[in-house]
Amino acid sequence: MTDAKLIDGTVFSGKLRETIASRVAEMKGKHRITPGLAVVLVGEDPASQVYVRTKGKRTVETGMNSFEHKLPADTPEDSLLLLIDSLNKDPAVHGILVQLPVPKHIDTQKVIEAIDPAKDVDGFHPVNVGRLAAGMDALVPCTPLGSLLLLKDNLGKLGGLDAVVIGRSNIVGKPMAQLLIRESCTVTIAHSQTRDLPSVVRRADIVIAAVGRPEMIKGDWIKPGATVIDVGINRIDLPDGKTRLVGDVDFASAVKVAGAITPVPGGVGPMTIACLLRNTLVACARQHNLPEVEF
Ligand code: NAD
Repeated sequence: MTDAKLIDGTVFSGKLRETIASRVAEMKGKHRITPGLAVVLVGEDPASQVYVRTKGKRTVETGMNSFEHKLPADTPEDSLLLLIDSLNKDPAVHGILVQLPVPKHIDTQKVIEAIDPAKDVDGFHPVNVGRLAAGMDALVPCTPLGSLLLLKDNLGKLGGLDAVVIGRSNIVGKPMAQLLIRESCTVTIAHSQTRDLPSVVRRADIVIAAVGRPEMIKGDWIKPGATVIDVGINRIDLPDGKTRLVGDVDFASAVKVAGAITPVPGGVGPMTIACLLRNTLVACARQHNLPEVEF
């Protein structure tokens, strides 16, 4: 059997960002509107600092305005909520993202619910969660949206396919399952208490791994020819003292069985920021009653 096709998220996300940049240019030219994304970072978590810097860079590259708000780790919850309120009211800001996790003294859910749902480009506000579940227009969480775009690019129509989503988080697993239901897949959500996970996974034409456990899903769990989307990003230690990024899927064995598979890194990862920019553009168009941007 030949190895699976590699689903290249770096190339796909690059094309998506080019499309977004041309829509942004059109919006500026025709309507004199520049979409704006505000990113708020509380504290000095090194990984979060890298994410925020990359988000800002990519935002500016597509021609949008980027507003960065870096607050000290001991910022009181009230001050953060006041900042969110001012961003909600700011007409130059069309999307608001508060980088998670926030420090422990701040209530994450309160922060999520403080963001105007129309500007909630992370898609975590209960209004957007509910709209997605009800099959209405919603701002959809970026990582599952990026995973869906890769799936559709690879498989075309998904209707009738059996999909297994491993992981039931609010950020990835649950919205991913909702998106697959919307595409008329038959969806199973597996989680930490699922019995006989290998046999559940073996039924699936589409496997979405969002667990956070390095290389847990083995090649002999995969149905031959299945499409595997590995959302996991795990850093593991190597015997020589170095580290390496791996997914939740054991790539070496899965690539021998699957029909197509995303690598880690270079699969779902780069799609997340591209979809954040897409959501900012969509949010901006909706706030100005402009025609819906479709991707
Ligand atoms: P999470 O910890 O919130 O959720 C993990 C889920 O996995 C839980 O629902 C849990 O029930 C399930 N689980 C745990 N152990 C299991 C087991 N043994 N068998 C079956 N299910 C099990 O994690 P998350 O935020 O959803 O992230 C999942 C992974 O995706 C992580 O590796 C994270 O780094 C990665 N991630 C990547 C991106 C990206 O941009 N590519 C974005 C978000 C998350």
